[in-house]
Amino acid sequence: MNELQHLLKKHFGFDTFRPLQQEIIASSLAGRDVVALLPTGGGKSLCYQLPALVRDGLTVVVSPLIALMKDQVDGLREINIPATYINSSLDSGEFLDRFSRLNSGDFKILYLSPERLLQESMLNQLSLWNISAIAIDEAHCISEWGHDFRPEYAQLARLREVFPEVPVIALTATATERVCDDIISLLNLREPARFVASFNRPNLSYRIIARRDPLKQIIEFLEEHPDESGIIYCLSRAKTEEFAKSLSDKGFSALPYHAGLSTEERAAHQERFLRDQVPLMVATVAFGMGVNKPNVRFVIHHDLPKNIESYYQETGRAGRDGLPGECVLLYSPSDTAKLYRFAEQANEPREQEVARRQISQMVRFVEGSECRRVAVLRYFGEEYRGEDGTPLSSCGACDNCLTPRDQFDGTTEALKILSCIARVKQHSGFGVGVHHIAEVLAGADTEKIRRWEHQRLSTYGIGKERTRQEWISFTQELVSQGLVRINAERFNTVEITEAGKGAMKSRIPITLTKPLTTTRLEREKRRELRVKTGEKSFDNELFERLRRLRRAIADAKGMPAFMVFSDATLQDMAAKKPQSLEEMLSVSGVGERKLEQYGELFWEEVVRIVV
Ligand code: ADP
Ligand code: ZN
Repeated sequence: MNELQHLLKKHFGFDTFRPLQQEIIASSLAGRDVVALLPTGGGKSLCYQLPALVRDGLTVVVSPLIALMKDQVDGLREINIPATYINSSLDSGEFLDRFSRLNSGDFKILYLSPERLLQESMLNQLSLWNISAIAIDEAHCISEWGHDFRPEYAQLARLREVFPEVPVIALTATATERVCDDIISLLNLREPARFVASFNRPNLSYRIIARRDPLKQIIEFLEEHPDESGIIYCLSRAKTEEFAKSLSDKGFSALPYHAGLSTEERAAHQERFLRDQVPLMVATVAFGMGVNKPNVRFVIHHDLPKNIESYYQETGRAGRDGLPGECVLLYSPSDTAKLYRFAEQANEPREQEVARRQISQMVRFVEGSECRRVAVLRYFGEEYRGEDGTPLSSCGACDNCLTPRDQFDGTTEALKILSCIARVKQHSGFGVGVHHIAEVLAGADTEKIRRWEHQRLSTYGIGKERTRQEWISFTQELVSQGLVRINAERFNTVEITEAGKGAMKSRIPITLTKPLTTTRLEREKRRELRVKTGEKSFDNELFERLRRLRRAIADAKGMPAFMVFSDATLQDMAAKKPQSLEEMLSVSGVGERKLEQYGELFWEEVVRIVV
């Protein structure tokens, strides 16, 4: 065991580093500037916390998330690492106390918001405190190309002027090259060591199913995941309220979260979720960065996210602790039109264009029959590889891998769609949207159909054997095959392309993909999925008892349960069943300090004979 591994076990209780952690830490300790791109759950905090223990002097951590500073600091205190924070939430007594303790060098880590850090008086103070390293968390906030630009971050270049000699480590979960370049140039980093981890999240599984009766589908899912914590994302504020209420009425404890709630309400709901008092959060994407809860077991999307990056970031909030997390997207082709309408509200034509391109990428992704993991990683320019480095084309744990979407000879379906588009145009002289075509084919009785007399078309009702949703999916597939196009300049009306006209004449065979199913996973597949995403076997009954003990301790101390021990630690404990305090130390997540504080209590529970 090398020195760093020794410190990892001693202080944090972990036996092995996550990918790149050790390399990042070694570079930083060698005095280099470092940029580290690690996915959510990759263990970024440890990359500056562990070096802080080794160094003399103080490590300053810049973080935009004031609400999280307290939890971070409490967590560090739990493992005996002297840390503190200074922000606007402190009263003057506390503030002075911390100042004087910083003056006497009592702390190893100080958390600050960028605004606070950049105050001249603060910068002057810092020069007196023997700063040995600076960590910039959520460093993508500095880039206008990132999804979360913060003007205060742009001022951080000032740090280099004031502390020219101090090594800087910048960390983010944003994977784009451009953002990374911005971080380096705007922070004035000197020949930084760059680390980019794989963005694959092996413990997450991705599933996309057809949305039919969302509330019922969500409830079925929740019934299969009792006592687990999860996030349900909805597009509209009203939907979050509605679902939170319907779920509560059915006996599931859920709270809404969106930007329309007051600051206090939002903070309170987030807090109750974080502390496992309420397992379900029904939220808009306003609930996002800084959801630092490690044991989120699933993320459900009720609506289609606006691009693949958002889908990745939002699903990424599941499984930070490394245990399996399920990501389920309920998809209805009708979502697409809604997203396009939003895109049109952007001010600049260029922005509209970008948004439209992203939506069509997203649609191709959900409608596609390829492995979801492979497709998501490709979007980030990464090839999916197995542990030994060989490129793989399937993960075995997504909907398309578990229940492959067969292709079928869809020539008849394609011709029905193409001729329906042609008939409508011929009859009315104008084009219509994808939905209307689907309604004509399915023989629906709508106001528009009557007004335009489309029930008299020869193609009316020739597709009754399929649902409207299926016709929309097929049409979208024809769009990706280039036989049909959606004309954004003309209210997203569908048109037949030259290739489409050719296909109608020549009647060459056209292959389509079977529509997404609405089915939930049978037991066996569920089991398979959990094994694939790394579920270990452990004594369930013991795990439950350990959880209850943890709850009691956390409640008594007024802190979140995961700060006592993570679920991952309790599962390891319930698998290893340590028979002595010494054996207890071999459990992942049990370090020296935790052993001292809780070792005996948990050991007693492990060896207790239950009658
Ligand atoms: P990020 O900020 O990159 O999303 P965190 O720093 O919050 O990730 O870490 C996520 C979780 O992983 C935390 O619960 C942390 O304790 C745990 N963790 C970090 N490093 C390791 C490791 N080497 N082994 C096991 N768990 C780890
Ligand atoms: Zn797959």
